[in-house]
Amino acid sequence: MVTSRADDSPDLARKAEIAELLLHAARRLGETLEPERVYDTFHDLLVGVVPHDGVVVSAYDERDDLIHCEYAWVEGNRLDPSTFPPVPLNRTGGGMQSRVIVTGEPLVVNDVEEVVRQPGGTFYDVDSTGEMRKLPDVEPPGTKAAMMAPVKEEGRVIGVVQLMSDRASYTPEQLELFDGLVGQMAAAVRTVRLQKERRRLEAAEAAARAIAAERETAAQVVEAVADGIFLLGDDGTVLLWNRAAELITAVRASEARGRPIASVFPNWETLAAQIPVAEPGVTPRSATLPMDVGGRDLWLSFSGVQSAAGVVYAFRDVTGERRLEEEKSDFIATVSHELRTPMAAVYGAAQTLLQRGESLEPARARDLLVMIVNQASRLSQITEEVLLAGRLDRGEVRVQREPVDIADVTRAAVEAMREQIPPSAAIDVEIDSDVGPAEGDADRIQQVLVNLIDNAVKYGGGQVRVRVERADGHVRVAVADSGPGIALADQERIFEKFYRADPQLTTAPHGTGLGLYISRELVRRMAGRIEVSSDPARGATFCVELPQA
Ligand code: ADP
Repeated sequence: MVTSRADDSPDLARKAEIAELLLHAARRLGETLEPERVYDTFHDLLVGVVPHDGVVVSAYDERDDLIHCEYAWVEGNRLDPSTFPPVPLNRTGGGMQSRVIVTGEPLVVNDVEEVVRQPGGTFYDVDSTGEMRKLPDVEPPGTKAAMMAPVKEEGRVIGVVQLMSDRASYTPEQLELFDGLVGQMAAAVRTVRLQKERRRLEAAEAAARAIAAERETAAQVVEAVADGIFLLGDDGTVLLWNRAAELITAVRASEARGRPIASVFPNWETLAAQIPVAEPGVTPRSATLPMDVGGRDLWLSFSGVQSAAGVVYAFRDVTGERRLEEEKSDFIATVSHELRTPMAAVYGAAQTLLQRGESLEPARARDLLVMIVNQASRLSQITEEVLLAGRLDRGEVRVQREPVDIADVTRAAVEAMREQIPPSAAIDVEIDSDVGPAEGDADRIQQVLVNLIDNAVKYGGGQVRVRVERADGHVRVAVADSGPGIALADQERIFEKFYRADPQLTTAPHGTGLGLYISRELVRRMAGRIEVSSDPARGATFCVELPQA
């Protein structure tokens, strides 16, 4: 209760007391962190200083012009504010709350009964159970006196607090104190709301940061994975193209993004039909398909998953694995095919000698023995080639790098071949006098040249020209024939392991498809290179270039 002291300046003393009370109120309200708790504290403070039977705190929202109850306490009971219907602001002055909101001034009404009878306002009477009666429809209100004070923020009225009493009437001093407490409460509510808003913003910011960090990590993972990944929009445009996709296809993300996928994979339409696209959460299956990527023939293993942003495709280059598979089956096919003929010949000749050896003409017996020797030598040559190719693959072949008299080595290779070639074949040799030494391994160079001359005789039909010359810091040996030549599409492939152009031809000479592979691997190990040029129908020319010593 506010009392005045009997001294010379009762007004001053009262003011000091009010100031002290408000200070205390400000401290207590300032300790509260939740808006609802601020109202409770406000009410606690009020209980000691102004007698009342009910308190209602309402907020006024300019946007919908409605007054909402936020806190209600009636005769010892806290009531649920949502049970109070929102009241529209009455700008013409009817209704006590509206009047306070419109004028921004506090108000004391000591004749509530009288006021509610007047037209123009909507009045409710609430009892301690929360039951609400519209006044004065039913009976006179229990409330005798009421005080109202505006809740302000930066000069604008944003609410109103009503204090009601069933017995007392309120004095202007009580109104002054009440108004002061409402001011403190409003400040505390504002602080608490700001703090709450700040916490909300901080939490939202932290959540946004966490999401951004997660996205960043996801983006880094997409960039780091070894699989090519791209995202295709519904219209077939590339939306994302990761680093691995760049490496596999040699198409940069800047070139792929925003472009139709068909600009990277030209036959995409046909291929896409063969790639299963899984629904999200379902393990995708993959399809291995041949692709022409920038002129390179690749085998790519694709899988797709539908996502909200489009279809995410993952792919990896399985050309190596595929080639290995092909090599394996080529190996089995070649070896079994190439071994079968000489083995059958050896077996047949040996059996004839065993069964009829004594009755055979000596010349016939000798022919059989020669055949056994030749075919056995062919068998061991095939075995040697297969073993050498395997050792080259495993990096087990040591190749010398020393000065080699290339003229001597070429002559030796030609002589070795001359002993074997049919009488119809001829080998011309032309060696520049200033050719000088090459750097490499004499035995290996001879092995390569023997293979090239052997092929030229085997496939070229007879006339072979071997030329040795010096060229741009290199020594070059060219082996040319005038046979059917090699189709352009085969010119690179004939250096692959087991590859044989036209092997189905029954007239095709025997071979393993390893000779050129071995030749190229050996020449590379001597820092040289081997190439073919051919005009089909006009023969083929194989060139071996080695560094000068
Ligand atoms: P092989 O002679 O055992 O089949 P190579 O690796 O030496 O194996 O040759 C691979 C293929 O290249 C041959 O099968 C042949 O089709 C083709 N080839 C090689 N040399 C010539 C040539 N001088 N003329 C035409 N084709 C050739």
